[in-house]
Amino acid sequence: MNYEKFIDVNAAGLQKIELPGSEISANIYIKREDKFHPAISGNKWRKLKYNLIEAKKQRKKILLTFGGAYSNHIYATAAAGKLFGFRTIGLIRGEEHLPLNPTLTFAKNNGMKIHYVSRSEYRRRYDSGFIEEVYEKFGDVYLIPEGGTNLLALKGAAEIIEDINIDFDYICSACGTGGTLAGIIAGLNGNKKALGFPVLKGASFLEKNIENLITDFNGKLFNNWQLFLDYHFGGYAKINRDLIDFIFEFEKLNGIQLDPVYTGKMMYGIYDLLLNGYFKSGSTIIAIHTGGLQGINGMKPKIEKLLNKSAP
Ligand SMILES: *Cc1c(COP(=O)(O)O)cnc(C)c1O
Repeated sequence: MNYEKFIDVNAAGLQKIELPGSEISANIYIKREDKFHPAISGNKWRKLKYNLIEAKKQRKKILLTFGGAYSNHIYATAAAGKLFGFRTIGLIRGEEHLPLNPTLTFAKNNGMKIHYVSRSEYRRRYDSGFIEEVYEKFGDVYLIPEGGTNLLALKGAAEIIEDINIDFDYICSACGTGGTLAGIIAGLNGNKKALGFPVLKGASFLEKNIENLITDFNGKLFNNWQLFLDYHFGGYAKINRDLIDFIFEFEKLNGIQLDPVYTGKMMYGIYDLLLNGYFKSGSTIIAIHTGGLQGINGMKPKIEKLLNKSAP
């Protein structure tokens, strides 16, 4: 699969950044994985890469996957399907809302067939019974789990480490399913330290999930990583004024956009840890820009409401 023609691996380099009000004695870089491709960005490319290669190898014609109505993974899978010659099916949690939101509009325009799955059905998405029904209904599809997280996704995410060409102490990622962080930890192979910033509330279950993903992947256990569970801002896609102000300030300082669902929360967490003296002076920190900027569109009404409400 000749993906280099479409995915600009060299665009995802390191960029030195500043944080607001910083007398901060750390070297902080952001790895611009948001720049791989306008629609297949960040960790969604990392996680799709070997799945697409495997699907080709198995001569599958259709990719089927799962997600919420604003999912970066749904968006990326639709684009990747079109680019690399697969039909795509998206099983979307919840009911249809018309007009379609920007994410699903894009997915549909890229040829994705959208099916809605009730929330109670959707909860069964990892059950073997449910998976069997999916194959019965949709036939010979290549199935990619929610968020794109499976063992081939870890293989792709582990390559983030190979693509870093400076020495560093910490590497940071936002976490949803934890697949990306698990791949990063596997790639580190016991060196340096990985920090994860879950965007879901009450995500302590992720510790075990990440551990299981890694042991399934390479049979190893590592302890050079840590999750910070307090930067979810109330839960998935929940925001407050502090977070939005920080994201705007960060963009002014660095000319880099963050999204309020994932990378904004991670960067806020890094900033807060810095202020609280978590990092040794002189540390080098790499934050992964995992992409997902399309998600900002879906968040705009929420952001505007928040800004109006708290206007002076
Ligand atoms: C999906 C996503 C994540 C979460 O990745 P996981 O591998 O599920 O933990 C992080 N950042 C962005 C921008 C994403 O779109």
